[in-house]
Amino acid sequence: MDEHNGLATRSVHAGERRDKDIGPVNTPIYQSSTFYFPTADPRTWQGEVPDGSYIYSRYGNPTVDAVERKIADLESGKRALLFASGMAATSTALLTFLEAGDRIVSQEDIYGGSYNLMRYHLPPLGIEVRFAPTADTEALIEAITPGTNMVWLESPTNPLLKLVDYPEVTKAAHEQGAMVVIDNTFATPINQRPLERGVDLVMESGTKYFGGHSDLLAGAIVANGTDLEPVMRKRIVLGGSMDPLAAYLLERGMKTLALRVRCHNQNALAIAEYLEDHPLVERVHYPGLDRHPQHTLAARLMSGYGGMLSFEVKGGRTAAERTMSSMRLIKMATSLGGVESLVSMPLNSSHHALPPEERARLGIKDSLLRLSVGIEDVEDLKEDLDQALRTA
Ligand code: PLP
Repeated sequence: MDEHNGLATRSVHAGERRDKDIGPVNTPIYQSSTFYFPTADPRTWQGEVPDGSYIYSRYGNPTVDAVERKIADLESGKRALLFASGMAATSTALLTFLEAGDRIVSQEDIYGGSYNLMRYHLPPLGIEVRFAPTADTEALIEAITPGTNMVWLESPTNPLLKLVDYPEVTKAAHEQGAMVVIDNTFATPINQRPLERGVDLVMESGTKYFGGHSDLLAGAIVANGTDLEPVMRKRIVLGGSMDPLAAYLLERGMKTLALRVRCHNQNALAIAEYLEDHPLVERVHYPGLDRHPQHTLAARLMSGYGGMLSFEVKGGRTAAERTMSSMRLIKMATSLGGVESLVSMPLNSSHHALPPEERARLGIKDSLLRLSVGIEDVEDLKEDLDQALRTA
């Protein structure tokens, strides 16, 4: 795509595959696990195919390739790789760049699945893992001592929307020779552009805002200067490749990414401001609010503040549970980033495995509700929240 095009244009057009023979407006779904070989040459059978040819869809597929090009373009990367889920992307990247004797530094509040993978599955492979407090950039930088190979960041985080000064952390990590990866799922490239600020790899759970309709699982790794060929080879071995039909759905969703994210940003800010003044709400966590402790940092790192927020209900756990189950338009479900608004309670979902003292230390109150604010009319959302808070 032309570099001068804006993000909405690129969301629609970047990467699209034009088949000249029939001329479809959309990228065709190449729903084929395997492809005819042009010759009996053994090099072809061993994977040495000319550019633009395909062998087997675990190695590569034209529909998947088109969406990879779109994602690379949107993130200002040179290359993107797609996976069957965000966790397939995360695990493949970690297993590509880390080996026995290496060390990874991450934050305490990263997504539960990534935390679980690092905490319980990397150490048996001989990989040392250190977790530093999330919103404390200095503590994170201090944890990156010589011998660190990778720093894994997430910003903003779930469920308290804490931020990391990731360009600062990246500088410090590079001084120690460590590569930096950021999970950009909450922000998306529409609101935050880590590769342009020196981060080596971006990870996205495409299941969320990229797909945008809660109808698929997807994950992506994107790079600018880092060679993704080893990740591609690891993907072939581990097998977390994406199915062409899911890739088609993902591309369809991504055409409206910029449009949707701008609406999520507006709605979430309006809801955060509304809840902040609500008499039955104790506290709102949203980086777009002036009162958010990291608002200045958020304004520096993000061009929009995203569709995720959380809030503490007055009256503790029981009031929060009643509020959540009294919502009518906003549905109780895990996940996020879809067109529909969803509510969940970290206490009994993402953070249920943590002992109460640990949750308290992280600042996750029993009365905390997490909202993935959708693209519905904001007045309808406010009305639903108000009636639910009053019913409780
Ligand atoms: N990163 C974040 C921030 C997430 O919220 C999730 C899923 O909830 C993931 C990664 C994992 O993505 P997936 O569920 O697509 O494997």
